[in-house]
Amino acid sequence: MATLVDGFGRTFPYLRLSLTEACNFRCSYCLPDGYRADGRPTFLTLEEVRRLVRGFAAVGMRKIRLTGGEPSLRKDLPSIIAAVSATPGVQKIALTTNGCLLPRHVRLWREAGLTALNVSLDSLQPARFAAITGHDRFDEVMEGVEIAQGLGFAAVKLNAVLLRGLNDDELPAWMDFLRDRDVAIRFIELMRTGTNLAYFERHHYRAEALEQQLIDTGWMLRPRAPDAGPAREYAHPDYRGRIGIIAPYSKDFCAGCNRLRVTARGDLRLCLFGDFGIPLRPLLQSDDDHEALAARIASQLGLKAAGHGLHQGNTGITPHLASIGG
Ligand code: SAM
Ligand code: SF4
Repeated sequence: MATLVDGFGRTFPYLRLSLTEACNFRCSYCLPDGYRADGRPTFLTLEEVRRLVRGFAAVGMRKIRLTGGEPSLRKDLPSIIAAVSATPGVQKIALTTNGCLLPRHVRLWREAGLTALNVSLDSLQPARFAAITGHDRFDEVMEGVEIAQGLGFAAVKLNAVLLRGLNDDELPAWMDFLRDRDVAIRFIELMRTGTNLAYFERHHYRAEALEQQLIDTGWMLRPRAPDAGPAREYAHPDYRGRIGIIAPYSKDFCAGCNRLRVTARGDLRLCLFGDFGIPLRPLLQSDDDHEALAARIASQLGLKAAGHGLHQGNTGITPHLASIGG
């Protein structure tokens, strides 16, 4: 089976595919004014997604994450999951969602072949959740997580962006939450993007500070799987749940990069903070282009840089993470 390897010896079994730029939330670090369509956006169709995933699977992709914007806003999400699931070579299909539509749809997604779920939950306090996301829907998200936990997913994980002054005092509450629950929470360090500079200056909190608190209280680092995401995951004998740390500003973050991204309009992005996209959509119009598509993906990988320029304040062409699928 083919494997993609870049000029720095990194392999890429993991694709993050954005299904839409639209979102129904207004997270203060992402889309504080809500989503506004520019003209009539045309996102990849089901057929285009099917061809795209087949092309990536041919060059070694084994795990795919469907993201956005808010992917659950796509009415054809169950059909997309089923099409991805039917693609030879694909072993894991994960979805990242803000969670508010889970109670209504998560059973259907699971039946269609979804294997893992990440739900964003920036606070365990409903009022704070509403202040951060712009929507008072904490109870629905929690209900959805509970339902999902009973559906036999390989993993149900929660994501919280660490925000100084807004949710940086919740580690004890999270530990209580994890004591008897088989879930993992990932704390994500706030990333600077093209549109959140002032917010970043105000609320950036270093993930490594939180990580030190974990180590000091007896949490231990677990080994990392080859297709795992970027989190460093910790476990503790007194707790059923696990805690992951995603620290994009840490020294070796890019060295462990194992993923590529495709935007909702079909551009390959070699890095979340890269300066350019590579259009794949022209090769998604016919099954006859399958080999040309696989060849383009493999050849463009040579352009992947060793690391992002976030330390120099270079956020690339990403205005916010909803535009590329964080
Ligand atoms: N709408 C879905 C959601 O919120 O889960 C999927 C897309 S969202 C862009 C994916 C993840 O990126 C979420 O966990 C969100 O909290 C995170 N995110 C968005 N902007 C971010 C930023 N500037 N820094 C760090 N994480 C961010
Ligand atoms: Fe929407 Fe996700 Fe961005 Fe929040 S983080 S505004 S839910 S895309």
